[in-house]
Amino acid sequence: MPAIWILRLSHRVGRDFRVTTHLGLVGRAFGAKGMYYSGDKDKEMEKSILRVNERWGGEFKVIYTRQPIKLVNGWREKGVLIHLTMYGLPIDDVISEIRGLNKDILVVVGGAKVPSIYYSLADYNIAITHQPHSEIAALAIFLDRFYKGEQLKFEFSDAKIRVVPCEKGKRLYKGP
Ligand code: SAM
Repeated sequence: MPAIWILRLSHRVGRDFRVTTHLGLVGRAFGAKGMYYSGDKDKEMEKSILRVNERWGGEFKVIYTRQPIKLVNGWREKGVLIHLTMYGLPIDDVISEIRGLNKDILVVVGGAKVPSIYYSLADYNIAITHQPHSEIAALAIFLDRFYKGEQLKFEFSDAKIRVVPCEKGKRLYKGP
């Protein structure tokens, strides 16, 4: 199975704390290997994601990059570069082709304003509807379509706690 990584552009300390944290949490829960981010370095945001690994398992990585363009150029030599944007091609028109490439994927999501170079460097500019909405929603839908819903069943073998599904209330299993 190809590895999927995320690149979150232009993170701003304070203002983007929740959105970038949630990008990481959605990426982790839905099967991505890790998230690079550019903009402001933010140790608190990194910790807020990595703390989830400790209890809920997995090895999701959060890596700061000062040079996102260099990262993207390096990635294009070995894998596929996807940029999520409302101006791109409808996801359902290209997702089978992307899956068929069987290559590792870097999914770029924007912040306040995405420099135009990302549109030209991307192998695929992909739209999740052509309406403006949220990078978190766009990432979740991309991963859902890519994994055909299988990500809803992902489990972390090293989890210290797990949810025991129940109709009402909350039940947790704590153990090996
Ligand atoms: N006003 C901002 C701008 O000028 O780019 C909107 C940024 S939007 C809140 C942040 C990111 O969400 C975008 O860069 C893109 O990655 C993602 N996004 C938002 N709507 C999308 C859509 N319809 N399809 C795919 N990605 C979308």
